[in-house]
Amino acid sequence: VKGKQETVVPGQPRFDLSGGAVCLNFINTLDDRPTEAKETLNSFSDLVRFCEQSGILDPAQVEHYLGRNSVAPEQARAGLERAIELREALFAIFTAVVNRSEVSADALQTLNELSQEAGKRSILVERNRRFAWAFADRFSCDAVLWPIAQSAVDLLVLDRLLFVRTCSSKTCEWFFFDTSKNHRRRWCNMKVCGNQAKVARFYRRQKNA
Ligand SMILES: [Zn+2]
Repeated sequence: VKGKQETVVPGQPRFDLSGGAVCLNFINTLDDRPTEAKETLNSFSDLVRFCEQSGILDPAQVEHYLGRNSVAPEQARAGLERAIELREALFAIFTAVVNRSEVSADALQTLNELSQEAGKRSILVERNRRFAWAFADRFSCDAVLWPIAQSAVDLLVLDRLLFVRTCSSKTCEWFFFDTSKNHRRRWCNMKVCGNQAKVARFYRRQKNA
């Protein structure tokens, strides 16, 4: 039994963000892909919670998206559908990266469309004599996906792309960006998969002894 996304404790972070990049954490929201594949984004609010925890939405956006009557149900459904479409495109792209295989043109197009949309909405704002990038139209349902698409583009153009890897647990295979010193990280989360492997090794050794 894995103690990751499914543990929902009020006031506690709900998603395990061990992936080291927003786009990789987003791919990991479909948990245990190689085995039972558990969906953790079952509603538009789940998606908003993920984005909130990832720090890619401001409080006003979160309040807007989760507020009563502020997002029509059909808009929320469409927004979630687009999110899943983006997530699976990212999964296809990063799987190809990890396997060094050909990248699906469809997946790349999905990412490109959202990234272009994000680019078109990007505006420079000034607050207290500091400049920052922001999004115009930031309360539309697709706005939650723009920073995710940008995170993927940013990561894909990095020359350290070979540090994108998947967890060594055969039931997990979560994606992560290995920023460890020797680049030998094997587990999505040492406390979860790494620890299970350690425990398994320990018992094997005991049995053999
Ligand atoms: Zn793992």
